[in-house]
Amino acid sequence: MKFGGTSMAGTERIRRVANIVRRQQAAGHEVAVVVSAMAGETDRLVNFCREANPLYDPAEYDVVVASGEQVTSGLLALTLQAMGCKARSWLGWQLPIHTDDAHAKARIEDFDSEALLASMAAGEIAVIPGFQGLSPANRVTTLGRGGSDTSAVAVAAAINADRCDIYTDVDGVYTTDPRIVAKARKLSHVTYEEMLELASVGSKVLQTRSVSLAMKEKVRVQVLSSFIDDDAPAADTLPGTMIVSDEELEGLDMERQLITGIAADKNEAKVTLTRIADRPGAVATVFEPLAANNINVDMIIQNVAKDKGETDVTFTVPKADLLRTQALLEENKDKIGFFRMISDDKVAKISVVGVGMRSHAGVASTMFKALADRGINIQAISTSEIKVSVLIDEDETELAVRVLHTAYDLDAKDDAA
Ligand code: ASP
Ligand code: MG
Repeated sequence: MKFGGTSMAGTERIRRVANIVRRQQAAGHEVAVVVSAMAGETDRLVNFCREANPLYDPAEYDVVVASGEQVTSGLLALTLQAMGCKARSWLGWQLPIHTDDAHAKARIEDFDSEALLASMAAGEIAVIPGFQGLSPANRVTTLGRGGSDTSAVAVAAAINADRCDIYTDVDGVYTTDPRIVAKARKLSHVTYEEMLELASVGSKVLQTRSVSLAMKEKVRVQVLSSFIDDDAPAADTLPGTMIVSDEELEGLDMERQLITGIAADKNEAKVTLTRIADRPGAVATVFEPLAANNINVDMIIQNVAKDKGETDVTFTVPKADLLRTQALLEENKDKIGFFRMISDDKVAKISVVGVGMRSHAGVASTMFKALADRGINIQAISTSEIKVSVLIDEDETELAVRVLHTAYDLDAKDDAA
């Protein structure tokens, strides 16, 4: 079981969490619980580091920011004990959870679960602070922001758990953002790959890395709400959204929609370079300096050559990297040989995602037609096996998501809504 920051924010909420944990134990489970810091706490700690030393040493940053989870793990153990349960905390360095030495964004390497399993078998609830580990040099590490999800999946894999229940402030994964589309539906199941695509295009329910790890280790993950009453359906009845493999999903033989979800991402910016020479190697000169500076390019389009053997190239980069991108391209202007650089950060990437499109034609054309009918202009397109993305004007984001949600027949029927 994993509880996020809003679920752990304060004594009352921790008591609610302890109740949910106690009920799972009473239902016959041995339980390990992974917790986040209280909501807002990690941001507060990061700020202290910045104030102390703007060029902070990441190893000391980890010592500071890992403390938020130390507090909540101890408090949850205390609260469970107050309810008469046996419980103890296991800090990252005590287990230990071994990571590499990439401070502030460490990766979990291995994890010795023997002591943990023995204590759980003896009826003790194990409470583990998320987000933290131990480097080869015996120093505290953290796993990157949102890393408690990854801790939870790693613990579940190490103890061979039946399920990893991730309790959060939403009751599952939806076909799209319910704040944009009131008729968005909660999905009972999504596959790991769909979840990865939905997470990487802006549906921030889980840390992306936790989903990759779950896929690799075959951990069945459920996303569900911790804001529930005592008579809410038990977690074992799967009230949330299950994230599972393609095979498990096929075995369920449910009626599948062609498209599983629609995501919107406003974190990219578009750059166009005009009149680049249409010859081998020209495009490489554009992207080499960006790659060398760790700037991730996402969508790319190159137009057909015009009469003078010249072409325009358009691509997207994270908004946060736009200034650096412009500077790098300007620096390399002679080498690349472009005429003008035009950029636009008022764009949004809209993606339709679903494993169903592997075996169905016409997904992209439905998308283009639906957008065209509303006069929404498409500025760039990219696709993968289970995703079609388009770049549009940022102001049209909400309209596009609504139109597509209806076009793919995802709207909840009135009686079900
Ligand atoms: N507390 C950490 C963060 O805010 C880790 C987590 O909550 O997942 O990023
Ligand atoms: Mg989180």
